[in-house]
Amino acid sequence: MCLFCKIAAGEIPSTKVYEDESILAFRDINPMAPTHILVIPKTHIPSVDGITAENSGLVAHIFEVIPQIAKGEGLTGGYRMVSNCGPDAGQTVNHLHFHILGGKELSGQMA
Ligand code: AMP
Ligand code: ZN
Repeated sequence: MCLFCKIAAGEIPSTKVYEDESILAFRDINPMAPTHILVIPKTHIPSVDGITAENSGLVAHIFEVIPQIAKGEGLTGGYRMVSNCGPDAGQTVNHLHFHILGGKELSGQMA
């Protein structure tokens, strides 16, 4: 099982922010902003490259929940969503995840 599958299964502890039957949001262990949350599907999808017509409903669900999480975190000034896909993007955990970053004025640099 990969690291985030283990977190989804509760085998590795995490600071949960949101959970339902199909997705989980938890705080990044190495936060890059005052709010830094990772949102994952509980089922293993390796990266954005693994999104298909069969599983994209999960991704839609994640994006429906993100505004609720942002509201709960008080991110009234806005926030940034990031998903690193593959080595050039620096993906370090090969389980699809979306970073929510906010709580400060973020760098204007995208890459
Ligand atoms: P990425 O580099 O886009 O693949 O993002 C992986 C993220 O997972 C990094 O921001 C790490 O800090 C974070 N991370 C790694 N292990 C854990 C963990 N056990 N709990 C929470 N976040 C983690
Ligand atoms: Zn996994």
